[in-house]
Amino acid sequence: MRKILIVEDNDKNLSLFKLIVESMGHEPVTASDGKEGVRMAKDNLPDLILMDIQMPIMDGISALKILKADEATKHIPVIALTSYAMKGDRERFLGLGFDGYMSKPIDTESFIITVKRLLERRSQDEPI
Ligand code: MN
Repeated sequence: MRKILIVEDNDKNLSLFKLIVESMGHEPVTASDGKEGVRMAKDNLPDLILMDIQMPIMDGISALKILKADEATKHIPVIALTSYAMKGDRERFLGLGFDGYMSKPIDTESFIITVKRLLERRSQDEPI
């Protein structure tokens, strides 16, 4: 079981992502804005973070910058979740430092594949 932090301000999306993470046998931890997300990441040191982009108080890009600038959290993979999919988005978000990208509404199967792939990459990165 891995700990996965879900940062999402939309309740419906949050419930859905939580349900999928639980169905995969992992433990979800949640936050509803970027600032709370950064705090939860530092407190819980999750194995993976799913980060919405448009959120109140602090958006996902600002939260990512803080997490990637902190020694304690910079190794944690962060997947961007965007609701305004446009051509070139993937490249743009990966260029900003995100480790993965998914557009909403999400496709459950590819959501699961992306989460699995990043969790595997994480375990390979870990020092022995
Ligand atoms: Mn949002």
